[in-house]
Amino acid sequence: MTDFFAQAVSGVRNLAPYQPGKPIAELERELGITDIVKLASNENPHGTPASVKNALAAALDDLTLYPDGSGFQLKQKLASKFAVKPEQLTLGNGSNEILDIIARVFLQPGDNAVVSQHTFIVYPIAVQAVGAELKVAPAKNFGHDLDAMAKLIDTNTKLVFIANPNNPTGTWLTGDELRGFMQQVPAHVLVVVDEAYNEFVERDGFISALALLNDFPNIIVSRTFSKAYGLAGLRVGYSISNTQVADLLNRLREPFNVNSLALLAAEVVLDDAEYLAKSQANNAAGMAQLEAGFAQLGLPFIPSASNCICVDFGKPAGPIYDALLKEGVIVRPIGVYEMPTWLRVSIGLPHENQRLLDALAKVLAA
Ligand SMILES: *Cc1c(COP(=O)(O)O)cnc(C)c1O
Repeated sequence: MTDFFAQAVSGVRNLAPYQPGKPIAELERELGITDIVKLASNENPHGTPASVKNALAAALDDLTLYPDGSGFQLKQKLASKFAVKPEQLTLGNGSNEILDIIARVFLQPGDNAVVSQHTFIVYPIAVQAVGAELKVAPAKNFGHDLDAMAKLIDTNTKLVFIANPNNPTGTWLTGDELRGFMQQVPAHVLVVVDEAYNEFVERDGFISALALLNDFPNIIVSRTFSKAYGLAGLRVGYSISNTQVADLLNRLREPFNVNSLALLAAEVVLDDAEYLAKSQANNAAGMAQLEAGFAQLGLPFIPSASNCICVDFGKPAGPIYDALLKEGVIVRPIGVYEMPTWLRVSIGLPHENQRLLDALAKVLAA
């Protein structure tokens, strides 16, 4: 057979495959155990919002019809929530698709994009797939070093990706830091501020980059319904940008990229203030619970503003990850993020967090 590996574009050959969190059903099959706790994919631990379940049940009769490819209703809602024009919005099959569309619209071979070390793996995938170069700035305290990133920008730079808060580390940038960075960035370089965890942040000085969009029209903000709104399985996210950028993104977007159930669910959950408040309150309490538990176990962790936290074992974390699986607890190894001694833990319900802490105590004592 032909070596098809050699046929692939070089950027794709050099990619490490995305490794998702281990699904519960897979661990059940492998170890024959039940009662598994998954704290591996930054999913919402509260289950499908009841408001969404009811709405979707009523919508099941219309699956013969194509979705509204313009996403009119959802865009109306988002536009009024954020006081922007519907023409500034682009809807995606998850915000992952938005990131991918941005790379395909603005990058080609010869161009580059700047990211930070220890940041979301989807950026390299999107950038390298289109044959562009990825420039990685060293992190500072596991977070974005914006000065180091600004220094990497050259005449071929078209895009910068910033996750705020960052995944996997949960580090965050203040509004002042973001503004200071934007003042250094040439006006033609687009800065994607990925705010997947925005709804969880409770930190002084934190702002959404939306507040900077008027001063810096080269900002694209991306958001998702996958985390605080609990709709990861339906795949719906969006970006807010200037209208010209949104027009370009929408030209490349598949006509029916967001399915009808996802559109409806997103509209409904935007009105479900109770679900969001519950998610936020549980997250704050769970973060405190895990921080206290890690401290008690003598494990260093990175203060996190998102819905996950990274904990350090000071030695390769693979065996600890495996031992936790045997205890029925799935977390996330992050060697692919150049953090091989760390594990990333998503905030769960109080009893799930406790299961993790108890399992860790047992595994570390063994
Ligand atoms: C989870 C996550 C997303 C959201 O992905 P979806 O495709 O919307 O589910 C985007 N960016 C970061 C940094 C994330 O961690």
